[in-house]
Amino acid sequence: MRIFHIPAYTDNYIWVIQSGSDISVIDPGDASPVIELINTNKLNLVDILLTHHHFDHVGGTLELKEQIDGKVYGPVGNIEGIDIHVTENDTVKTLDYEFSVLETPGHTLDHIAYVESQKNLVFCGDTLFSAGCGRVFEGTFEQMHNSVQKLNQLVPETMIYCAHEYTESNLKFVLSEITDEFIENYYKKISAKRLIGDISIPTTLELERKINPFLLDVVPSDLEGLSKLEQFTELRTRKDNA
Ligand code: ZN
Ligand code: FE
Repeated sequence: MRIFHIPAYTDNYIWVIQSGSDISVIDPGDASPVIELINTNKLNLVDILLTHHHFDHVGGTLELKEQIDGKVYGPVGNIEGIDIHVTENDTVKTLDYEFSVLETPGHTLDHIAYVESQKNLVFCGDTLFSAGCGRVFEGTFEQMHNSVQKLNQLVPETMIYCAHEYTESNLKFVLSEITDEFIENYYKKISAKRLIGDISIPTTLELERKINPFLLDVVPSDLEGLSKLEQFTELRTRKDNA
């Protein structure tokens, strides 16, 4: 049993969970690298789990659906090809995993995350990134703040599998706002990793609380007097304009 990534587009990760020769995939934005993986390694695609309707996450669904043994799970909304629409607290069982669904609106209104609380991991799509969070496209800042805080309630050891490799540029932004030795060192570590093509994901909630200002444990000093929602809104706005 293992989890690995398939790189897609410029900075997307399609996450794969594997048990023997069976795999399930999360957010297959592109079918071709998944099909290549399956054919090269003689794997069997069981289920597809989707977090939100953006093309870079769902684009491969219809093509892959032709060869799945299982179901396509995803949020209520306008995504084509979903067999089972899931909402808050629904359970999704695939391979040896039992996920529960968290609704995390903000980036999009349909956004959901899949939490595995026995294995302490979450596939959170574009809600939380390492050292950052998703852009607020459809929801309000308050919705996004609540969704990020919902993920922040998970146990510290939770491994966070987000859908983009944004960590290095996110850390650059954080360091333009916050002077912090731990974050500086982490930035150096990630830059070195990226230089040799290593990925920065998964991260953990415990680590994110030290480096990710959108969780609001570390915030720029000029925001200290504001409410949590005001801090979040101001930070997200600064990031949008960075
Ligand atoms: Zn997205
Ligand atoms: Fe995305």
